[in-house]
Amino acid sequence: MDIKNSQNFLHDKNLVLKLIDLANLDKDIKVLEIGPGKGIITNCLLDNDYKIKAIELDERLFNNLKESILNENLELINTDILEYVIDEKCNVFSNIPFNITTTLLEKLLKESNINNVYIIMQYEPFLRFSKYDDYLTYKYLLFNPFYNMDIIYKFKSSDFKPEPKARIIFAGFIKKKNPDISFIDMDLYLDFISYLFNKKSKLLFEKIEKLFSDKQKEIIKKTLKVEEDILFTSLRYENIIYLFNTFNKYANERNKKIVSGFYKESTIDNNPHRNFSNKNNW
Ligand code: SAH
Repeated sequence: MDIKNSQNFLHDKNLVLKLIDLANLDKDIKVLEIGPGKGIITNCLLDNDYKIKAIELDERLFNNLKESILNENLELINTDILEYVIDEKCNVFSNIPFNITTTLLEKLLKESNINNVYIIMQYEPFLRFSKYDDYLTYKYLLFNPFYNMDIIYKFKSSDFKPEPKARIIFAGFIKKKNPDISFIDMDLYLDFISYLFNKKSKLLFEKIEKLFSDKQKEIIKKTLKVEEDILFTSLRYENIIYLFNTFNKYANERNKKIVSGFYKESTIDNNPHRNFSNKNNW
């Protein structure tokens, strides 16, 4: 990995303090900081009395930080966040390495020990997770049942050194108090959605052909008030949630096995957002 490419340092302490204020993190649980770098966020969090677990991959930055900050509220770990097992309840607050954004974000959103995620990230990958008109993107469907996703702040390139080419935002992924699908069913749900997107057919009932019995499919048709030839893309978010709940409740174990492993293997990226410019125009 080219670490240099993923290092865009913040330099304005007041801006960091403002972001911490906007996030309004719970003081009772630790803050996980990914890539503390030279420690600008770390120091501001410590000034605000947060307890921090900071994971830094770069050995030189790690050693410098270890020497410069001595604080019992900081646990500093020299490892790759993608290999790290998150073993206690945390909120995330971090200016993340941009080159691993999507992989990292999915790891965090899937993790039951993670509460809310506040990260500085590129705008384009954020859009993949968010709603685009009525179009249901794959990653939006994967995580929307569990999180409210918000753009909290939009940066100028000059807020970073070196200046990033892409547009950067401060985003919040806030766990829903009443998730549309229970967190314990997340793995099955991710597989179910990935299976549907993976099936080549455009028709809903061809996609779900093997997942439900004929009787169940008849009930689905009546409940959704749709015909046999309905397109998968004409379903609304609520319809998908209904389909999963039906699958979860009524499909037999053999049918549930059919979707197993599809999320892990998935390479789907149906991003409808186009025409990205690299300028500072929002
Ligand atoms: N938080 C600092 C630095 C941001 S740059 C600031 O805002 O100024 C991103 C940081 O992530 C760098 O310090 C980089 O070394 C670190 N990093 C890159 N890949 C990482 C990984 N896989 N795991 C942990 N840290 C990583």
